[in-house]
Amino acid sequence: MSVAENLKTIRERVDAACERAGRRPEEVALIAVSKTKPLSMLQEAYEAGARDFGENKVQEILEKYPEMPEDARFHMIGHLQTNKVKQVVGKAVLIHSVDSLHLAEKIEQEAAKRDLTADILLEVNVAREESKFGLMLEEVIPLLEEVKNLPHVRVRGLMTIAPNVENPEENRKHFKKLYQLYVDIKSKNIDNGTMSVLSMGMTGDFEVAVEEGATMIRVGTGIFGSRQIGEKKE
Ligand SMILES: *Cc1c(COP(=O)(O)O)cnc(C)c1O
Repeated sequence: MSVAENLKTIRERVDAACERAGRRPEEVALIAVSKTKPLSMLQEAYEAGARDFGENKVQEILEKYPEMPEDARFHMIGHLQTNKVKQVVGKAVLIHSVDSLHLAEKIEQEAAKRDLTADILLEVNVAREESKFGLMLEEVIPLLEEVKNLPHVRVRGLMTIAPNVENPEENRKHFKKLYQLYVDIKSKNIDNGTMSVLSMGMTGDFEVAVEEGATMIRVGTGIFGSRQIGEKKE
């Protein structure tokens, strides 16, 4: 299957999941996770209509970003080290992986220097996996309270990487929990009204994530095919 065909299939599956959940397809943005993939494949996806690309390494964003048409957007979805922040601020349209005040402050510093506002998501380790980055659920609101004082950082929502499971239904409970927190934050207006993104769901579980309220899904393998062993993690 070509990248274009894969994209079409994924989009159809997203739309069907929306239909099941009584949601509108426009509520769910598809991010094509192009990490480790060559520029030619990103261009193929672009030709087929993809505009949002996800990368987990700053270096790959720096290499691919200048080669793509101006309206292609890059999302930083991988763990971000503070020493790489200055390279990615102003290039990534959204940083999905903020999980400490220290990192948010570094982003604030770099955004202020460039006189721009950096859009970020707070990454949450909903399933409390030892091996994963991200905040515990109970840490999200306290961090949000601090980050909202940073004038050049805007928290647009929450992100999670659910466990790698055989049956996507196993992740439904995690998606539900994150959705609940997202709705709580919005209803109490803790975010000053900037929160509108819930980034959850990958190739193996995006339909369940959409049914549970995802507004952004991050799909790699399902669009570009499998990655080489050893390239999977950062
Ligand atoms: C690689 C990656 C994805 C995409 O994973 P697939 O299973 O290939 O769809 C999504 N989110 C993050 C944070 C990733 O690192």
